[in-house]
Amino acid sequence: MAEHYRHTKIIATLGPATESKEMLSKLINGGVDILRLNMAHASHQWVADAMWFIREVSTEVERHVAVMMDVKGPEIRTGAVDEPLDLSVGDLIEFYIDGAEPTGDIPAVTVNYKGLPGEVTVGDTVLVDSGLIQLKAIAKDERRIRFEVLTPGEMGSRRHINLPGIQVDLPALTEKDEDDLRAGVKAGIDFVALSFVREADDVKVLRAFLDGLGSSARIIAKIEDQAGVRNMEAIIREADGIMVARGDLGVEIDYHKLPLVQSQLITACHAEGKPVIVATHMLESMITSPMPTRAEVSDVSHAIREQADAVMLSGETTTGAYPLESVQVFRNIIETIEPSVERKLNTLIELKEPKAKMLRSAAVLAADLEDSGIVVFSRSGFLPYVLGALRPHGIPIYAFTDVEPVFRQLLLPWGVEPFLMEFSDDPDETIQDAVAYLKRKGWVKAGNWLVVITNALVDRDQIVDSLQLRQVKD
Ligand code: PGA
Ligand code: MN
Repeated sequence: MAEHYRHTKIIATLGPATESKEMLSKLINGGVDILRLNMAHASHQWVADAMWFIREVSTEVERHVAVMMDVKGPEIRTGAVDEPLDLSVGDLIEFYIDGAEPTGDIPAVTVNYKGLPGEVTVGDTVLVDSGLIQLKAIAKDERRIRFEVLTPGEMGSRRHINLPGIQVDLPALTEKDEDDLRAGVKAGIDFVALSFVREADDVKVLRAFLDGLGSSARIIAKIEDQAGVRNMEAIIREADGIMVARGDLGVEIDYHKLPLVQSQLITACHAEGKPVIVATHMLESMITSPMPTRAEVSDVSHAIREQADAVMLSGETTTGAYPLESVQVFRNIIETIEPSVERKLNTLIELKEPKAKMLRSAAVLAADLEDSGIVVFSRSGFLPYVLGALRPHGIPIYAFTDVEPVFRQLLLPWGVEPFLMEFSDDPDETIQDAVAYLKRKGWVKAGNWLVVITNALVDRDQIVDSLQLRQVKD
């Protein structure tokens, strides 16, 4: 197995600490597979610029990354403030809905959700910034709520508000999301992560919108509240993948249930054969420290043992002081932990199509051979996604496609190493080209066994699905 090969993928969120060309090239070279653009804080010009930089740097360093646009969905946020508000216990603060006027006697900030005054009852506690700031509602009218500060903190611009257990009456896709998506699709995004997916229909709404834009971007449904957890099975069936969005999930449900819900989500994704991303606070302390805490190392290891497809960095790479170190820590943990995971194929997944069943045989055969790999050719990405979902430990999945967007979408699933290559009309020539390429780039060497899944031409005009065994020649 090539030295730099790993099964678990790395996602990093782009931000002020990493958006320069120099940092981007270091991140991409450092092993990031997918870059996330968080639309809570981004302008459309930033999206266009970031995308341009990313593609340019990728070409320069000859390592490709996919781009995931994270749209905020029905997320409640405060508006902009000129200066962060320094809140002490007992201070008063007012939230007023967009378009209304503040009362003017105490510090005030807008909120993007007109329904907030109706949703909050005097006496309720409202959580701001992942629960860091707790506010108690003491008075309200239709357009404003006054709060007393219960826990102190600094409140900057566009802080996120959680209302645990309350079904927010905002559409799955807001006008801002639609604007963001138009800008993203124009710039060429590969994935869309949708925040606060509450039911499968939310994913359908996004899919229809993307179809209308002519985009084939894959959809990652972020599970981050109680409704999302309740409807996880239907959501997973509808989406192309799931994010365990632990930042919000950890305040929307009882925090001590988070590990159980994480495991449930991962298991449900394994059963459906869909990729799953574990996100947020994975190396949080590395925002200010060059070393992770021991607990963080254990948490990341746990996600790898549970066989998540990808682990994600947020603040660590947006504003953190040690973004590159964080990626390196991920890589070190992945490289150390992966070989210790039990070499068992995914037994939960139900393979329906005969061609998908053939993949299981390919994985079993490859596991029986030493120094082996699987080579697969795909235009839609379907076969490599299923192969990854089968979890063939220790066996690289070399996926060749001639479709550029599919090539980048293959950067997400566990174990898949994608390559973009022209296919020849003769399937055998395509295989030889692929194997020669792998050898030239050091992925395989003479003597290695390759299990090849392809179409073969028989009797000149008939094409059959085939599984071949080839040994790399000198
Ligand atoms: P966010 O989503 O970073 O966009 O809030 C992830 C999470 O909530 O964990
Ligand atoms: Mn979130």
